Amino acid sequence: GQPCDKELRFVASGPDEALALIRDVTERKLGERAKDAFIATVSHELRTPVTSIRGSLSLLEHGMVGPLPEEALEMVRISRTNTERLLLVINDILDLEKLSAGQLDLSLRPVEPARVMKTAAESIRGMAAQAGVEVVVGDCAGAPVLADEARVIQVLNNLLSNAIKFSPRGARVDLSAEPGACGRLRLCVTDRGPGIAPEHHARVFERFHQVDASDSRERGGTGLGLAIVKSIVEEHGGVVGLDSAPGRGSKFWFELPCAGAAVKP
Ligand code: ADP
Repeated sequence: GQPCDKELRFVASGPDEALALIRDVTERKLGERAKDAFIATVSHELRTPVTSIRGSLSLLEHGMVGPLPEEALEMVRISRTNTERLLLVINDILDLEKLSAGQLDLSLRPVEPARVMKTAAESIRGMAAQAGVEVVVGDCAGAPVLADEARVIQVLNNLLSNAIKFSPRGARVDLSAEPGACGRLRLCVTDRGPGIAPEHHARVFERFHQVDASDSRERGGTGLGLAIVKSIVEEHGGVVGLDSAPGRGSKFWFELPCAGAAVKP
């Protein structure tokens, strides 16, 4: 009869719908995880042969196997540069995979901000010189942060190399520190490049997002750098942000918990 039907429908549609929804999400998540794991496996398998190719090309380029005609040498150089680019992409993908699987082991210690700022600026000096950009490290009287030093340097490197890539020749890039929210320290990388329109501010931190499709061709890059920055910073219990507008340069920043702070947000 009617009442029973209704009840049946209620029983059948209520919990079933909820169940279907749960199953749906689970399947999607399993699919995403399988895809991430597949990409990670392929990247891992590619790393060894690509590293070996780079080694051989490097030997050829440096004349270790005998002199090469200029034209052949130029081809070897191009191949070596592209192999290096490929390796960067592979390493970025592997880093992201570890981050999304929560397998990136951070070794958290009190880290002097002034020291990591100096180290990161030094390590990027060659690239800056080539681009005719001056990297200026500001004073930092900030308290130590609780962080994995090598990962903080990786984050700063990614932000500095973007800032340099997008700077006009002769421009300056500033690396500075200031107090952040909730007892955190904020590290900032400021450039005088083209700037970024507000609608792209959140999306530039997503994987593979590039504001301009020609960026990867002209400036090199994978669209993974900022996704890695965000994951590493969030893994530390920190936050990332961007102040920028077209024609006004960009200020990328991130905040890390201070070593003395009692509670992590
Ligand atoms: P990649 O630099 O490898 O393309 P990122 O994740 O580091 O990837 O950056 C994503 C995109 O964000 C870049 O392609 C570019 O469009 C934009 N972007 C990043 N940094 C800057 C910057 N300093 N100035 C202008 N645009 C930037």
